[in-house]
Amino acid sequence: MTIAADAVSSVIRSVPTGLFIGGEWIDASAGVDVENPATGDLLATVADAGPEQGRQALDAAVAAQKEWAATDPRDRGELLRRAFELLRQRADDFALLMTLEMGKPLAEARGEVTYGAEFFRWFSEEAVRISGKYSIAPSGGTRLLTMKQPVGPVFAITPWNFPLAMGTRKIGPALAAGCTVVIKPAAQTPLTTLALAELLSDAGVPPGVVNVVTTSRSGALAEPIIRDPRLRKLTFTGSTEVGRKLIEQSAEQVLRVSMELGGNAPFLVFQDADLDRAVAGAMVAKMRNIGEACTAANRFIVHESVAKEFADRLAEKMGAMKIGAGIDDGVQVGPLIDRAAVEKVTELVADATDSGARVLTGGKPVGDKGYFYAPTVLTDVPASARMFAEEIFGPVAPVTTFASDDEAIELANRTEFGLVAYAFTQNITRAINVAEALETGMVGLNQGIVSNPAAPFGGVKASGIGREGGAEGIEEYLETKYVGLAL
Ligand code: NAP
Repeated sequence: MTIAADAVSSVIRSVPTGLFIGGEWIDASAGVDVENPATGDLLATVADAGPEQGRQALDAAVAAQKEWAATDPRDRGELLRRAFELLRQRADDFALLMTLEMGKPLAEARGEVTYGAEFFRWFSEEAVRISGKYSIAPSGGTRLLTMKQPVGPVFAITPWNFPLAMGTRKIGPALAAGCTVVIKPAAQTPLTTLALAELLSDAGVPPGVVNVVTTSRSGALAEPIIRDPRLRKLTFTGSTEVGRKLIEQSAEQVLRVSMELGGNAPFLVFQDADLDRAVAGAMVAKMRNIGEACTAANRFIVHESVAKEFADRLAEKMGAMKIGAGIDDGVQVGPLIDRAAVEKVTELVADATDSGARVLTGGKPVGDKGYFYAPTVLTDVPASARMFAEEIFGPVAPVTTFASDDEAIELANRTEFGLVAYAFTQNITRAINVAEALETGMVGLNQGIVSNPAAPFGGVKASGIGREGGAEGIEEYLETKYVGLAL
């Protein structure tokens, strides 16, 4: 069902547009414009914080830290559980907000609300399972005790592509562990995080425990916070380029860092794959979030005996997808985030076709309003094509072939990134061998999606440091203290 204009304006009007610091909404004069990428229209204008307001947000987080760390784990867990329930109740509004500010189709936005809310439920359950160890020193006598304590105030920086889930994936474990948070959402999609701050306040999060700053000057706001000795942890999701800069800045205070950075996922289809499953998996791995996901399949590496059939079937499905504004009925492919994204995808496709790639479907921008690009399948893409080295971040599936398992693995690992890989085979020995040989933090075997709040999400190589979700997720916000006790 297409969403009516009054529902759109009512959800936009319901979102606070100030800074959320110390439990108060603070208006800031200058503003950051938030645009609807499906139309180019202005949706809202939110506060534009400078370094001084960034410092105030950190002040608030620091002031709340001690008391928050001392709360009972059960209380922290129950608070997160209430936040989970509220997110489910407000799911339609959150989904609509994300579709409006980011562009993803409404059905996908609803999926993100479910996924994002699960981090609150998962970490509400983890809050009461923080534990230490007790052992006897190998030489006897001394007792070795370890205890887990919250690292302290956390600065979280999130990207625009999953406006809700990237926030809950950080706020959930931080709060569960007993850490306070300053969060800075992406300038293009701040509304979801602002609505989330209001929800957390409604759930009973005490003043100062979660603070939100929006800004058009992310570097100027973030650097003093990162260099402030009171900050104890930086958690960042975004590009590898920015991540590298932030790691450098973090070195000054020797900050704990979690970095969820870029990807360049290979999607391997072996000769013994179930092609129905491989094509269905490819649709999810490529087209989820309009291809704007760090986990998006970026390189389709297919055995030469099945490559033509795989590419033809994928092209048929991708070519039949309905393109349009995410709020319209049945739309499967929304706009890219901005004009620059369309230009980058156009450039990458031109680079590939100039060096011999063939277009099976798509291959061009669509429409004269908003930022749409047609779902595209390319074959005969040479190994030297830029799109094999760079994140495409759009609905383009380049297909290349291999002849042996060794060659497939070599091609898959030929990248600085190591977030996720997908492999399709019905041979269990091959599946395990391939999973072991892939230099990635995650592997999807016979499935095109790996994200799950109960699993450790994260990459190796230039894709990052640390894990989010699973039992590992809360560890990122805990320090281990060892106490030696002489008897
Ligand atoms: P980005 O340009 O790196 O921005 C990410 C965040 O960092 C935004 O909030 C941005 O603020 C902020 N930022 C930019 N420059 C900064 C600076 N100098 N100092 C402090 N903060 C700064 O990335 P993006 O384009 O939003 O997101 C896409 C990237 O995120 C892709 O590479 C994707 O692979 C990656 N990603 C990774 C994961 C993962 O889990 N590994 C998940 C999702 C996305 P502004 O918006 O104000 O620029």
